[in-house]
Amino acid sequence: MAGPATETHPYDVLVVGAGGAGLRAAIEARAAGASVGLVCKSLLGKAHTVMAEGGVAAALGNVAEADSWQVHFRDTMVGGKLLNEPRMAQLHAQEAPARVNELERWGAVFDRTRDGRILQRPFGGHSHPRLAHVGDRTGLEMIRTLQDQAVALGIDVYMECTITHLTTGLGKTTGAFGYWRTTGRPIVFPSKAVVLATGGIGKAYEITSNSWEYSGDGQALAYRAGAELIDMEFVQFHPTGMVWPPGVRGLLVTEAVRGEGGILRNSLGERFMWKYLPEDRRAEYAENDEEAASWVTALSEGRQTDARRPPELSTRDNVSRAIYTEVREGRGSPHGGVYLDISYLAADHVRRKLPSMYEQFKELADVDITKGPMEVGPTTHYVMGGIRVDAETGATTLPGLYAAGEVAGGMHGANRLGGNSLSDLLVFGARTGAGAASYAALLGEQPHVDPVQVQDAKRELDAPLERTAGEDPYAIQRDLQSTMQRLVGIFREDADLGDALAELAVLRSRAESICVAGGRAYNPGWNLIFELRNLLVISEAVTRSARLRTESRGAHSRLDFPASDDERWGTVNCVVAQGADGTMDVMTAPLPPMPDELRALLGEH
Ligand SMILES: Cc1cc2nc3c(=O)[nH]c(=O)nc-3n(C[C@H](O)[C@H](O)[C@H](O)COP(=O)(O)OP(=O)(O)OC[C@H]3O[C@@H](n4cnc5c(N)ncnc54)[C@H](O)[C@@H]3O)c2cc1C
Repeated sequence: MAGPATETHPYDVLVVGAGGAGLRAAIEARAAGASVGLVCKSLLGKAHTVMAEGGVAAALGNVAEADSWQVHFRDTMVGGKLLNEPRMAQLHAQEAPARVNELERWGAVFDRTRDGRILQRPFGGHSHPRLAHVGDRTGLEMIRTLQDQAVALGIDVYMECTITHLTTGLGKTTGAFGYWRTTGRPIVFPSKAVVLATGGIGKAYEITSNSWEYSGDGQALAYRAGAELIDMEFVQFHPTGMVWPPGVRGLLVTEAVRGEGGILRNSLGERFMWKYLPEDRRAEYAENDEEAASWVTALSEGRQTDARRPPELSTRDNVSRAIYTEVREGRGSPHGGVYLDISYLAADHVRRKLPSMYEQFKELADVDITKGPMEVGPTTHYVMGGIRVDAETGATTLPGLYAAGEVAGGMHGANRLGGNSLSDLLVFGARTGAGAASYAALLGEQPHVDPVQVQDAKRELDAPLERTAGEDPYAIQRDLQSTMQRLVGIFREDADLGDALAELAVLRSRAESICVAGGRAYNPGWNLIFELRNLLVISEAVTRSARLRTESRGAHSRLDFPASDDERWGTVNCVVAQGADGTMDVMTAPLPPMPDELRALLGEH
């Protein structure tokens, strides 16, 4: 069956993904004079970034004058268990304030302090109130602002277009291949540089705060084209997702609820986080309920205080493990979570600070959060690992290929602090756009896209439509999510990880004979096939990396190796690359050395 004819659109820089990272990269590349195409799987404005609630972390020092890039750097490194690429963490902390102020100049309207500056709220693991925010709808404001800029710059946007392959030649990127989801028509983008900004991998798990778009496309595209992935064992399980009703299980309950004073309790009414604070950071938290309460009162009155923060503002990895343990030990709520309560604060204050949460619980669970507690439990939220990139330019290990945002690894180490993703998108989106544009300018001529690669990619699109019998892609996706949830979740051990690899191998072979009914236009089953292929690759990368790292660190908790092993694992990343025979290689590589002046900022850590 001959498919429809292929469209071709050449660019200096092709950006795949129109979330915060992709938009910011596209703006920078265009400003540098490159011709830029911007591709996204859904409609412009519907990227994951729009869902971000709590805020964007930047050491503006508007609420706590003592804040500085140095403290932000330290918090990020300590939160990441020192596995972060130090130069990335440094650039991020230094440049985030300028990027947030730039966003404001471009029209973003943040919440305000009483004297009219950008208001900042506290979040887990941050030493000071640091998150610039717009109620609990920060991502919406950010994407709206970036979109306005991109459209004003005349960037070509391809919506509802999925990239399925990167093309390469002479060891470099030559462009990308994909298809229109509306018609199924193939499309080729010969490009001097390609920026991947496709986000995360949450759809590898059953319970996730992520939307259908998070199928690890960029990570898998880069891996197949020959680039390296790092830190894939570090998957963040956000402590608070909805657990009820079943249809919305996993939907995020923003950390801003805890940032505004939300208290976690088990079914016995115990404020259990007091038990789980890590000893080495205990001094940073309140001594008791009274001190925590006076911190919350000062916050809601907009004053500075010497009181230390409540235990609920521990890092996400720690709070997730605590909730999981409470539930496993029989102290959970009726639907398998714990209680998160903000109803002790004035109702109008809660509605003003957390309007989306108020509506979300009212609409979906018939719970008024100003009157009673929410039921919450861990949900797969973010992947710290991703494509290995150069801190300065976002260049991957494959010439011409760049990556920024959640798809890239290194910045967050073993655990990301809340709010540090939106700032990551802005800082490294801009740097990567500049890096890709300058590579494209140096390259000069448009690279040649190998027609054989295009033919092969088209055949892969056609094959599932030509089969008359075979596997159902939805059944394989369900089984894959079940494998990852059961065997590669919050707590891991060698036997489970071995079982997961065996199950993934079976799923890979089932995926070779997928068959779907219908045509190419708006065919969700057919679309899923290409996402499933990526999910299988990244699930294997997560599982193999998790098996290799025989210690517990940050978001990676091994029941059979419960302690951190600094000597063996404290300064190495797990690196995933395609082996010569097409199998997946996983190895360790040393972290880049940390300059003395940065090490000095870490204090005793
Ligand atoms: C509910 C929720 C709340 C959050 N709140 C916060 C917060 O308050 N603060 C914070 O710092 N972080 C937060 N995060 C995390 C943060 O929002 C994300 O990490 C971040 O938005 C990722 O941005 P991105 O630009 O990398 O990807 P995205 O914004 O997800 O954009 C990805 C883009 O890639 C496109 N794409 C993907 N695959 C393909 C393909 N094959 N072909 C073409 N296009 C493709 C998609 O269509 C989309 O346009 C939150 C996350 C969630 C889910």
